[in-house]
Parts: sequence; structure tokens; C-alpha cells
Amino acid sequence: MQPLSRRNVLTAAAAGTVVTASIAANAQTFGNPDLPPQGAINTRDNPASVTDPGPQNPALASQFPDAFSPPPTDVGDMPMFWASFNNAPRRIQNGGWARQVTQADFQIAEEISGVNMRLTRGAIRELHWHQAAEWGFVSRGAVRVTTIDTEGRSNVEDIGEGGLWYFASGLPHSLQGIGEDGAEFILAFDNGRQTEYNTLLLSDWMAHTPPDILALNFGLPADTFAKIPLHQLYIFPGQMPGPLAAEQEQAAGAAGKIPNPSTFALSSMPPTKKTAGGEVRIADSRNFKASQTIAAALVKVYPGGLREMHWHPNADEWQYYVSGEATMTIFNTGPRAVTQNFKPGDIGYVKKSLGHYIRNTGNTDLVFLEIFRSDRFEDISLSDWLAHTPRALVAQHLNIDPAVVARFPNTKPAIMPL
Ligand code: MN
Ligand code: MN
Repeated sequence: MQPLSRRNVLTAAAAGTVVTASIAANAQTFGNPDLPPQGAINTRDNPASVTDPGPQNPALASQFPDAFSPPPTDVGDMPMFWASFNNAPRRIQNGGWARQVTQADFQIAEEISGVNMRLTRGAIRELHWHQAAEWGFVSRGAVRVTTIDTEGRSNVEDIGEGGLWYFASGLPHSLQGIGEDGAEFILAFDNGRQTEYNTLLLSDWMAHTPPDILALNFGLPADTFAKIPLHQLYIFPGQMPGPLAAEQEQAAGAAGKIPNPSTFALSSMPPTKKTAGGEVRIADSRNFKASQTIAAALVKVYPGGLREMHWHPNADEWQYYVSGEATMTIFNTGPRAVTQNFKPGDIGYVKKSLGHYIRNTGNTDLVFLEIFRSDRFEDISLSDWLAHTPRALVAQHLNIDPAVVARFPNTKPAIMPL
């Protein structure tokens, strides 16, 4: 039984409700703030309140314990911020497959769309280009990438597990699986509406150009092109590429290489931030100079640790969960607070400046990517804000002694240990 406080009475009276013994028994408390109270903890006297006798899909429901029974601090609604590659249809071809989650499937994701792709060893994602910029993360194996810039300068580069690539909007490129088992990777486009199946393909354009135009364009007899494919290749098996240095030299010719590399070995760089709770590695235009429109953080949280309460003032956050298990709670005006569960292959999305935190709820390291449509990573830490604000001011807000406020972390830890 909770005591009937003056505040409870005033709140209830203001809401025009009659203060009864029943409401008093369920008055809001620390950790259970709402009126009417929400959450399973408030139904102990009426257990049928939380059962679900209706149609069920237990396998699916078991993946979302915090949606099925939200913590009592959750309140209100929010547009769905969970999606996954795990239930996205795969376009499977000889040589690999692709699947995607765009804004058509995931309404909240306005700034970023995502693709998950596999290429077998030697297989090629054909030469193509598109309107959005493309950022890639290698989750398995290794990839050879090729691209050119508007000066005709080229990059031919190999990138391994944990590595990135970036191709600016409209610049043509290709990908080839070169690991022992090829490669699997994630693409992030800097536009939620960009789809992987709406790209400009070399094979499509060649097949749909009259032979005499091809002859004029390349300065060769039309029958040079007599055997070009009539249908798009998209993904197809290929021969393993030659030695990197020789391919780089041949592709560069007299034009040379692009000044900035198109790839970046993110996972092998020293951590940008390391605490007893985990590690963060940040790649944006300050260290991965090519990446002018995508900033990213590769975050590792040890079991029980917390990606601290924070927000991003400059862009929406698109998350990809690489390994482990997590729950994320997002806070918005209203108040609204909604919690959701994430597993490998899942996607999370947080609108610009909304507060959030991510807990490792598994027994293994949680690894995920935070991706932003921006030239740089920016975040505000709640504890850092309060540690760098006059203590007397903070103390009056939270009813905490200023001497205790002084013990808040003041180094922007990013990840707090269990
Ligand atoms: Mn592409
Ligand atoms: Mn974040």
C-alpha cells in the first residue's frame, strides 16, 4: 500500500477524479510514476489483467518481452522504431542475395534506408550507381570495392571484417566478395526512400541502347557488343580479382587515384572511448574523410552495461544490431517513454534529439552500429550535461544534495558498466 501523499491528492483532484482508497493504493511512486498507473506491477491484485487469452504466436511474442509487458516507467505511444532484416524478403540470385528495409516498410526511417547483402567468394554486385550516397559495413568476410570520381580518378580497395566504405551520391561503384566465404555486409543510404532495387545498372543501360549508339559512343564496331547480357545481372558469380596493386594501377591510368580512400578499417582503429563498460569507435568525415554525409559509431557494451542516457542534436539515428541482445527505451515529450527489444539483424531508429538509452540484456557482448546522416557524430550525455551545470541549480530540480550531484559522471562516459 502506498501512502496517500498530498501530491497524489492534488494531481487526482486536478484531473477531476474522486480520490478513493483504490486509487490511493495504486498512487504513483518512484519507478511507477503514472496516473492511472501503468505496468504489470499495478495489477497484482487482479492478475487476469496481464494475461493474453487470445490468439498468440509464442515464438514471435517471446522476442518482445518489453513490448508485451512494458516497464511501469513506460507511458504513451510512439511510432514503431523497431524493424529487422530477419523478416525482410531476400532477393536470392546465383552468387548471393540482398534484402532491405526502406521507409516504405519502416515509416519513421526518413533519413536512412538499409540493405543487408551477401556475396559468395568471387561474386559481384554489378557496376551501378544511384541517387543516394552509400555507406557500407562488412559484418563477415572481405570485399573489393571499385569507384571513380568526377575527375575520372579511381579507387580500387579491399576492406575486411569491421571495415567501411563510402560512395558519394551518383558516383559509380561495384562490390565483390573476396573473403574465404565471400562476404556479408550492411549498406546504409542517406535517404530513407532509396531502394537497392532502384539502382542504375551497367547491364540495363547497355542492353537498352541501340547498337549504333554503342558503336559511336565507344568508337568500336557495333558487333563488339553483340554478346552483352540482355537482362540485368545485379548479383552474379565472378572470377576472383587479380592482385590489388595491379588492378589499382590499371584502373588509375593517367588520371590517378581519388585523394581520399573509399574505405576505412573501423573495427581495428583504437577505441574513441573506452570504459569499464565497453568501447566506442567513431568514423565520420574527421577521420574517414570520404564519408561526407554519413557518421557512424561502432559500439560494444559488455554484459549488463548501459549505453548511457543521451541524445543526438544533429540527426536521426539508424541502428543495426550486429550481436548480443538489447533493450532500448526512447523518451519524447508528452511524456512518452517506450521500450523495445533488439536482437542480431534488427534495426532501431531514434528521431533527432529524442532521449534514449540501450542496455545489454544478454550474457555476451552487445555490438551495434549508430548511423547518422551527417558529416559528424554528435551526442549530448545526460550525466555530462548535469555535471557541467551549476550544482545548486541541478540540486533544486532533482531534490538531491549538491554534494551528491558532484558525484555524477563528468567525463561523458558513453558506456556505464554494470
Ligand atoms: Mn550501390
Ligand atoms: Mn544514440
